[in-house]
Amino acid sequence: MSLISWGMYPRIKNRVHKLTDEYSLKETLKNNDELIAFGNGRSYGDSAINENIVYTRPYNYFLDFDENSGILHCRAGVLLSEILDSYVSRSWFLKVTPGTKLITVGGAIASDIHGKNHHIEGCFSECVQEFTIMIADGEIKTAKKGDELFLATCGGMGLTGVILTAKIALKKINSQFIRQTTIKTKNLQETFAAFEEYKHLSYSVAWIDCLAKDENLGKCLLMVGDFADDGDLKYKAKSKLNIPFNFPSFALNNWSVKAFNWLYYWKSPEGVSKQKVHFDSFFYPLDSIRNWNRIYGKNGFTQYQFILPKESSFDGLEHILQKISQSGKGSFLAVLKLYGKGNENYLSFPIEGYSLALDFKIEDGLFELLDQLDEIVVEYGGRIYLTKDVRVSQETFEKGYSKIETFKKYRKDNNMSEKFNSLQSKRLGL
Ligand SMILES: Cc1cc2nc3c(=O)[nH]c(=O)nc-3n(C[C@H](O)[C@H](O)[C@H](O)COP(=O)(O)OP(=O)(O)OC[C@H]3O[C@@H](n4cnc5c(N)ncnc54)[C@H](O)[C@@H]3O)c2cc1C
Repeated sequence: MSLISWGMYPRIKNRVHKLTDEYSLKETLKNNDELIAFGNGRSYGDSAINENIVYTRPYNYFLDFDENSGILHCRAGVLLSEILDSYVSRSWFLKVTPGTKLITVGGAIASDIHGKNHHIEGCFSECVQEFTIMIADGEIKTAKKGDELFLATCGGMGLTGVILTAKIALKKINSQFIRQTTIKTKNLQETFAAFEEYKHLSYSVAWIDCLAKDENLGKCLLMVGDFADDGDLKYKAKSKLNIPFNFPSFALNNWSVKAFNWLYYWKSPEGVSKQKVHFDSFFYPLDSIRNWNRIYGKNGFTQYQFILPKESSFDGLEHILQKISQSGKGSFLAVLKLYGKGNENYLSFPIEGYSLALDFKIEDGLFELLDQLDEIVVEYGGRIYLTKDVRVSQETFEKGYSKIETFKKYRKDNNMSEKFNSLQSKRLGL
């Protein structure tokens, strides 16, 4: 069995070592020069890919839950969806959750993921009290907030060791529904104004029509909201549709993206409208279709996600959206989010500003376009998100992150740089 990431690119043969217990993990570390942890493969690029992979999904028990504090103690292979399946009906939800619930707790820590509420709650590491991790010599360490091991591991893309267990804080809810407001905007000015107007609400996310041009550049549907308070917590996850095979790569082209964008924008009412929606459709719309990544065809796809500081976000985004709409390379998924202050972790992605994420199928000319976008991101003081990346250059990466040397030194001093590596870490000289 070989494992691939969500982007289905690159594909290399790998040896998969299933994580079942600590003793055999120690043996695996001893017997292999180099390896990398793999959670549920929802990262898009090559951060969990190497010839030797420690597959952590089988290591997935709940260990303890404190109903008073909401602290859950679990193994790192537990999926966020498994937490929701067990705890929503008991009125607990994740403090920070990404756009899919099909990721492991270990993957959430290693990417220091963020959600639609970064401007309020920050990254996943904010709700992590402590975790245990097996480092290069097989020793199991406990990392607490403020420790160097904590700062290097949260956002550290598996490069400090294999996370084994974690204590994370959940939040109280009193409904499985979200009171959502949708704001339909006509251009980037309106989009930014709407984000700022609604930033007191917990959650916000915008879908941008990245092929819109001229006076409509940056038009969007902004969805904002908070949990309802109706006491309805009878949660049961629904069954899913499936994409049974890879679509032919011509199925997804400039025209199909234009048609989708037109329909999606058009079917939403003008101006401001209110809805009550289930948290599954608010947070995880794509999870309702199993294997949706296959619509991009057998060559796979990548997600390009960058963030720009607040002061340069508007100009930078305008520049980048112009470039994309001129290129004609469309993306169904173009998600704009607002971020609060960054944290102290060495490689966590968020900084205060705006981030845009775009999916592109792998095809001729794509990487050249993304290289051009990189130049604009660097020019406006931004950075690229490692958990989505499969091709950024070391030079671009280094211009975006200021604590790389601290991270590298920590890895070197603790013998991590030889033991834990991915294709990505080698490409980026980490
Ligand atoms: C539809 C979709 C929506 C998404 N939305 C968001 C979003 O809104 N915000 C966001 O931040 N991310 C988002 N992501 C990305 C996703 O949350 C991250 O890539 C996450 O890290 C994937 O977790 P995983 O368990 O699948 O880990 P993998 O993809 O298998 O691995 C990701 C990284 O974590 C490391 N890792 C995994 N487990 C361990 C462990 N036990 N110990 C040490 N290192 C480990 C790997 O080495 C690798 O570097 C989205 C992904 C998808 C597919």
